[in-house]
Amino acid sequence: MLELRPNCECCDRDLPPDSPDARICTFECTFCADCVENRFHGVCPNCGGDLTARPIRPAGALHRFPASLKRVFKAHPACVDARPRSASGERPSSWA
Ligand SMILES: [Zn+2]
Ligand SMILES: [Zn+2]
Repeated sequence: MLELRPNCECCDRDLPPDSPDARICTFECTFCADCVENRFHGVCPNCGGDLTARPIRPAGALHRFPASLKRVFKAHPACVDARPRSASGERPSSWA
């Protein structure tokens, strides 16, 4: 069963279970459509596999099989530019 992770691993935007913008690879690395198209060009940065639209779980099924609440977030090289910067232009060290 799919975990239905709640966010994009790259830009951390929310991807609820009914989001048409969620994309996953065969290992369920989860990204938003923007990152897949503009940063990864359809290829998963973790495993090199293809990224495809995540199937939407109907609300009735979600009730019995809830989506994962565990956010996964990684510092992919292609993602770094997408993150907000502090006023000084430095990246917070917590992103390292
Ligand atoms: Zn994203
Ligand atoms: Zn992957």
